[in-house]
Amino acid sequence: MTKVVPPVEKNEYYDAVFEDLTHDGAGVAKIEGFPVFVPNALPGESGKIKIVKVKKGYGYGRLIELYEQSPERRAAPCPVYKQCGGCQLQHLSYKGQLDHKQKHVKEVLARIGKVNLDKVIVHPTIGMKNPWNYRNKAQVPVGEREGGLIAGFYQKRTHDIIDMERCLIQQSENDEVVQAVKNICSRIGIQAYDELTHQGWLRHIMVRYGYQTKEMMLVFITRTKDFPNKKSMIAEITAKFPNIKSIVQNINPKRTNVILGDETRILWGSEYIYDYIGNIKFAISAKSFYQVNPEQTKVLYEKALEYANLSGNETVIDAYCGIGTISLFLAQKAKKVYGVEIVPEAIEDAKRNARLNNIENVEFAVGEAESIIPKWYEQGIRADVIVVDPPRKGCDESLLQTILDMKPKKVVYVSCNPATLARDIAILEQGGYEMKEVQPVDMFPHTMHVECVSQIVLRKN
Ligand code: SAH
Repeated sequence: MTKVVPPVEKNEYYDAVFEDLTHDGAGVAKIEGFPVFVPNALPGESGKIKIVKVKKGYGYGRLIELYEQSPERRAAPCPVYKQCGGCQLQHLSYKGQLDHKQKHVKEVLARIGKVNLDKVIVHPTIGMKNPWNYRNKAQVPVGEREGGLIAGFYQKRTHDIIDMERCLIQQSENDEVVQAVKNICSRIGIQAYDELTHQGWLRHIMVRYGYQTKEMMLVFITRTKDFPNKKSMIAEITAKFPNIKSIVQNINPKRTNVILGDETRILWGSEYIYDYIGNIKFAISAKSFYQVNPEQTKVLYEKALEYANLSGNETVIDAYCGIGTISLFLAQKAKKVYGVEIVPEAIEDAKRNARLNNIENVEFAVGEAESIIPKWYEQGIRADVIVVDPPRKGCDESLLQTILDMKPKKVVYVSCNPATLARDIAILEQGGYEMKEVQPVDMFPHTMHVECVSQIVLRKN
């Protein structure tokens, strides 16, 4: 076999035209067809690059000089944008971000899913009016510097903690609580956890915020069970932040990157805070999964409900149901909803949330969607609509097969990864379904993530 020689060489300079963005927001240029990834370059721009690394099928470059600048280029408002890595698109206008996400979804559906874009409508991405301060959960690592504690984020590709006072995509109340806790802990001489020596006490500070209720929860994640100066800490925090309804300690004694440990105890107030999505109330505990952008979650679920187009007589299955958010949303308009989810604690939350809202036409099961739904099918359960909201890896093939056997009139596919949506849609299309429309929703402004809801219907033969 002849060895393909890459047309670029390390440390050499090239002129490049940028056409696309990678999954981590770098610009993509093709040099004699060879893809080169260049941070901080935008589609529509051109410039001089220096090659820094060459791999078999692609290379990495550094932007040396911009020849042509995109009209959508902006100065990133966050002072730590480059160090942090949490956001990838602050240097692109918000409109540019929304347009890119729509274009990306179209491109992936056509390339991987062989979707005919003349027939399937991919709508413009629904963005936020104010795409800042949207995160309802802060989870910050704590470290030490002479003179006290620091709390912020791990510098890109390292485990060095950088101190940060304000994260622009975070609810500002969450940042204020983190700052206050950091200052109080510094003053009373609390030690931060040290990953290298596995010593010290405070590992992370987590704050959760109820978007509708304004209720807040503060979680101390510590290495050991003890809690120095607990009483005065609680008194000071609760006096300063009357919206805090719950303070808990989570103990994580392990050497691990996983943030939360197994044991949680309530230090003050309630075990839960509450929030609403639409008119459904949710109880959120320290360990509950809950969507981090509640405003856009409502937009996403309303779209899912619209695509399900329920009249009140339908049986619906919600696969990958988490804490039952979509199930409860749909139950208001359906005869019966079955939810399935693999994490037992999430199903406990889902059942609690159903009781909290007096919703009785839902049933939840713990297990793999691909094992539980076939069992339901054997028991004679037939869904008119199946909603799937899988993790990034998409649906298990056997689940798709069960859908093809069960033949619901509609499938509503909620996806956080267009590539696996495209792969799965190809299987459903082959089995007699037709993708009608896709609505990208921007759940994570300034990042590369894009969420889609799509309506897929059984073809009439
Ligand atoms: N629909 C929910 C959660 C979606 S996230 C919401 O909108 O909030 C995807 C969920 O799928 C996670 O809760 C994850 O635990 C669950 N999951 C992952 N693999 C699964 C499987 N094989 N079967 C069922 N659930 C699974």
